[in-house]
Amino acid sequence: MGAELKLYDTMARSITAVAKSPKRFGVYCCGPTVYNYAHIGNFRTFIAVDMLVRTLKLAGYDPFFVRNITDIDDKTITGSQTKGQSLEEFTRHWTDIFHGDCAALQLLEPDVEPRAAGHLAEQIELIEKLIANGTAYEKNGSVYFRIGAWPNYGRLSRLSERELRAGDGEGSEKENSGDFVLWKAAKPSDGDIFYGSPWGNGRPGWHIECSAMSLKYLGTNFAIHAGGVDLCFPHHENEIAQTEAATGETMAQRWFHVAHLQIGGEKMSKSLGNLYTLNDIRKMGFEPPVLRYALLSGHYRQPLNFTDDSLRAAEKALGRIAMHCMALREQFDGDLPPMAEKFEILEPLWNELLDDLHVPRAFGELFTHVQRSDVKSLSKVGAAQELAEWRRLEFALGLPFTGGKYEPETAIGDEVRKLAEERQIARNEKNFAKSDELRDQLEKLGWHIEDGPDGYRLSAIGRKK
Ligand code: AMP
Ligand code: ZN
Repeated sequence: MGAELKLYDTMARSITAVAKSPKRFGVYCCGPTVYNYAHIGNFRTFIAVDMLVRTLKLAGYDPFFVRNITDIDDKTITGSQTKGQSLEEFTRHWTDIFHGDCAALQLLEPDVEPRAAGHLAEQIELIEKLIANGTAYEKNGSVYFRIGAWPNYGRLSRLSERELRAGDGEGSEKENSGDFVLWKAAKPSDGDIFYGSPWGNGRPGWHIECSAMSLKYLGTNFAIHAGGVDLCFPHHENEIAQTEAATGETMAQRWFHVAHLQIGGEKMSKSLGNLYTLNDIRKMGFEPPVLRYALLSGHYRQPLNFTDDSLRAAEKALGRIAMHCMALREQFDGDLPPMAEKFEILEPLWNELLDDLHVPRAFGELFTHVQRSDVKSLSKVGAAQELAEWRRLEFALGLPFTGGKYEPETAIGDEVRKLAEERQIARNEKNFAKSDELRDQLEKLGWHIEDGPDGYRLSAIGRKK
């Protein structure tokens, strides 16, 4: 039942219909490394994957969405040491900030958000399996995957033998330069951050966490594996090798990769120092939905160049849609109707989304519709029906269309965010009197705060969802 989504699959290098599998429809996205603010390039990928999940839901699929948190990594270890904090404390702080940004950008919460540090036993068990079947070997307390023992290596990225063998440059003790690390022996610079294993103290390599955690929560042959295009090689290639060599089964049915956000033709990245965070965008005077619109406005498989102008254009576009929806609301003159069950008036837009998530073409249809429509000539019922469909579309895109300029829910201001962060710190320090006082202040500003296992969530008091 429901509509059929067509999607590009990196493995097949073609656009194919996404099958509705009878078992759990697993979607796995490689999540952030939590040592600093995520930048808006990272959010281009997370927003595209969020829109994919939203579209799947509306099209009648039943996605079970897993996005991990990488908390064991050179950068998290160095960061925690510099701050004099435990790895747990340090990564919890940055995970909370990531969650705050995700909420402001209207990202749906994953069904499960596993952390590498919470899944050591699963990672060790997987490495043991690989050693037992000869696709991995131990050297001086580290363990490596032997790519020569895995003939399928390179299937996703289709790189040449020479490129594959270039590997990641880590570990001079490897049998072959293309072999990659599964377990890293502890080194003096790790300080007291290491974990026990059958090979001595150390820590898992980056790639193994995604294989272990996707296996745990989604099994093999899950529906879609997603991430930014830079993860294709070596990360996803290595994930495939680990999972498939250990289980003999296909890891994922299809692969979804998001092209980079660029600045002046170069990838936005921490190492190039050309990045913006969501806070930078706020300081420039733009609300998070404006950024979300700008990041969605290019097709996800094309690189997107980020400029101030793209934010200004996004703000204008959102304002125009909001005005159209306000006019519909006046014509209808009643409470905002619930989300429509299906698209009829806005179906041409929806069809573009079903065609490999073609947001730019959908936006083209959208503005043609807005331009052509004569709201004053609509009946009350007609206006209500169209509004209900705009509500469906705003769910698909995670953008505020029908609630005035911006839904207050998405426009958590700096002051509110600051109070919420202060309250989180007070809670972490078990200063409950201060935390209650900050909760009251937030309530006075119209915000309700709730605590969950992964941090807080803000919701505007008295808003209809
Ligand atoms: P990281 O925290 O570095 O592991 O990255 C998190 C996600 O952001 C990964 O899926 C990356 O592929 C993606 N990513 C990193 N830089 C960019 C960029 N400039 N544009 C789009 N996605 C990116
Ligand atoms: Zn991954």
